[in-house]
Amino acid sequence: MRAALAVVALIILLLIGGAWWLKCESQRPYAALVAKVEALGRKTPFDIDVHAGLPGLRSVSVRLLSGTSSYELLTESYPPQSWRGSLLADKRLHIESDLNELRVPEGPVTLVVTADTYAWHLWSSGAVAALNTPLTLDLTPPLIAPLTTQHNIRLGGVDMVVFRQSPDTVSSGVEVGKYFFPATTGYFADSAVALALFAVPQDLDLGAEPRLVARDAAGNRREVALACSIAPQRFAERTLSIDDAFLTRKVPDLERLNGLPTNPNLVEGYLQINRDLRLKDESRLHEITATSAPEPLWNGAFHRQSNAAPLSSFADRRTYLYRGDVIDHQTHLGYDLASLKLAPVEAAQNGKVVFADNLGIYGNTVVLDHGLGIFSLYGHLSTIAVHVGDPVGVKQTLGQTGETGLAGGDHLHFSIMLHGIHVDPVEWWDAHWLRDHVTSKLALFPRAGAQKAGQQR
Ligand SMILES: [Zn+2]
Repeated sequence: MRAALAVVALIILLLIGGAWWLKCESQRPYAALVAKVEALGRKTPFDIDVHAGLPGLRSVSVRLLSGTSSYELLTESYPPQSWRGSLLADKRLHIESDLNELRVPEGPVTLVVTADTYAWHLWSSGAVAALNTPLTLDLTPPLIAPLTTQHNIRLGGVDMVVFRQSPDTVSSGVEVGKYFFPATTGYFADSAVALALFAVPQDLDLGAEPRLVARDAAGNRREVALACSIAPQRFAERTLSIDDAFLTRKVPDLERLNGLPTNPNLVEGYLQINRDLRLKDESRLHEITATSAPEPLWNGAFHRQSNAAPLSSFADRRTYLYRGDVIDHQTHLGYDLASLKLAPVEAAQNGKVVFADNLGIYGNTVVLDHGLGIFSLYGHLSTIAVHVGDPVGVKQTLGQTGETGLAGGDHLHFSIMLHGIHVDPVEWWDAHWLRDHVTSKLALFPRAGAQKAGQQR
């Protein structure tokens, strides 16, 4: 009898123990911001990870405290999945509340996350604080004001804006349609004065409305329309016939050099190169041109390859024919300049080599940084005579012309890029244009460094 009682007591103890083990909190709930938040803006999105362990979260609440007021950003409850609880051990919360609408006052705030779980609470009951962190709420966007008042730009061309920005600005530049051209700061002695070269790229139209934009650490964004007149530009239409000899000579080599699968159908192989490889090259150029010297490395107008005749010009609209059928359309984003075979390729201006290697359809390619986001590209070279990091002077030999990449004959493919976007080189070859649109604006305010040097003397 006693033994039976002892067994029953043991079973009851085991049941209570087992239930306790299953319902006890394996860890006190805690929460953390997924990424560091510098400051909260009007609608700064952020994520919070909440960890509770088993038996899982019952509810969470995210609030901002300002003074004695509390503002609810999010509250969620999680229904039980079994007698044990929700079994939701981890939860990521996405917050994107409009703090202006909630009327949270600007200034210091405290972000508070509380969480309740399905565990049996012995001493505390209900929700506990899982995160308590001070933040700053900033709802005021930075101030920006253009200092150059009129901007005249041609479709496919470039202009420069000089502007003043408030010190809370962390990024600024010019937005034109889907394109963004970042500003350069620190060029002028007055650190509040910034500049940006911007383009109206050749694939936009005259309705493009360049806007000066600035953001602060809280993500608040200010934009100001730029007074800008955009002149039309007609781009040439050209037809190129692709024949079997060209396909046989080019396609297998380009596939091999660029890690593409061998296509037994040469036309299909060609189209993959002309479309996909071309796009890949452009995104590579974006990476190559991601950073630029914060000052012009050039001095005067850009040099155009000596004694070379243009075969194609900027933004030619090309139609590709094979056996009389249209097989493709592409835009030619540079100048094709031809002279003698294996002619020395001349640097267009002083700069620094940022790329010297094979680059897809461009073949052996050199890219130079000239500062302020301006780069020049030299494609289809037979030999390359410079290395990444080399400083080069205007007209310095970079290599020899050739027909590597998707070139049908020996020539130089020359392009000017602004932050990786191809623009019309004609402007940069023109001393008058350069003076009116760039150099004169750079001279509007004293330069940083110049003043310091003066003080030292
Ligand atoms: Zn070309």
